[in-house]
Amino acid sequence: GMPEPPAPVLAPRRRSRKIHVGSVAVGGDAPVSVQSMCTTKTTDIGATLQQIAELTAAGCDIVRVAVPSQDDADALPAIASRSPLPIVADIHFQPRYVFQAIDAGCAGVRVNPGNIRKFDDKVGEIARAASDAGVALRIGVNAGSLDRRLLEKYGRATPEAMVESAVWEASLFEDVGFHDFAISVKHHDPVVMIQTYRLLAERGDWPLHLGVTEAGPAFQGTIKSSVAFGVLLAEGIGDTIRVSLSAPPIEEVRVGLQVLESLNLRQRRLEIVSCPSCGRAQVDVYTLAEQVTEGLQGLKVPLRVAVMGCVVNGPGEARDADLGVASGNGKGQIFVKGKVVRTVPESEIVPTLLSEANRLAEGMAPS
Ligand code: SF4
Repeated sequence: GMPEPPAPVLAPRRRSRKIHVGSVAVGGDAPVSVQSMCTTKTTDIGATLQQIAELTAAGCDIVRVAVPSQDDADALPAIASRSPLPIVADIHFQPRYVFQAIDAGCAGVRVNPGNIRKFDDKVGEIARAASDAGVALRIGVNAGSLDRRLLEKYGRATPEAMVESAVWEASLFEDVGFHDFAISVKHHDPVVMIQTYRLLAERGDWPLHLGVTEAGPAFQGTIKSSVAFGVLLAEGIGDTIRVSLSAPPIEEVRVGLQVLESLNLRQRRLEIVSCPSCGRAQVDVYTLAEQVTEGLQGLKVPLRVAVMGCVVNGPGEARDADLGVASGNGKGQIFVKGKVVRTVPESEIVPTLLSEANRLAEGMAPS
């Protein structure tokens, strides 16, 4: 059939330079990527690879692991060589782990200049090692660990202070001819975070890694991150994102993908169009929508499934979707590609939708 027209987006992407984190391009015209971070001990190689496999299946693009000790650094070669996703080693305090991570075959290293003593003196050596190995860096400035000099100058982690820190460190790398890095300037307050990234975006063409740090438990963290990312991405700012939740990392990936899909920055996979239900609902919409979502979780094709509680908007939305149900009187009218294919009792709605969805999916290319 005819190719679908491209989905509308809110703003052109800010022009950033493109870097490569292993096989994943970040910046330039590369799609905005989704990152997460393992919660396993890096020394537990099996558990870490298992979590990475789950993150891969959920659609994660890049994964970070913590390197707080020598034993963690020693685990990096096994993880980097067996991970299907590019590995970024997260380094604070100990510059020697930066070199170990590079030697271990990590695709990227995150350095926090505020947490590495005399970081500036080591920039040349780090840049040389990264450049020789084709490893990308992230200069990860964080409100909670801002460079002391800037904390003294500004009194606290203001947008200006964080941007000054990031721009200074970036200039040190650029002065030695190294350009393969992204920057993040994370703050826990979405308003300050937005101001900081806006300011940084004007100062150079670095690819930007977005994050609201310590965003909190799943509900609060999802909203804080989504609001902040939404504002920036709607202005074209942001090349890769990490949602930080006090929840399993797979949730971070789901939220991140959903944010990008909501802004048409990523092709939708499964989309459930379901009504909030109201006094008119003639079936249990919540349960139906949940069961359909659950049953279609692994689907890799862009499928729109409408689950509607009554005939007010039901037939319209169901007809518009690839697949849908409009309920009434304890029955469901099942729509496929705009046509009613049959009417089933309430208990048959979910199984019918799932089997129709799988049948449709077989005929579609994965997104
Ligand atoms: Fe209410 Fe029907 Fe609209 Fe659902 S589709 S919210 S049940 S009017």
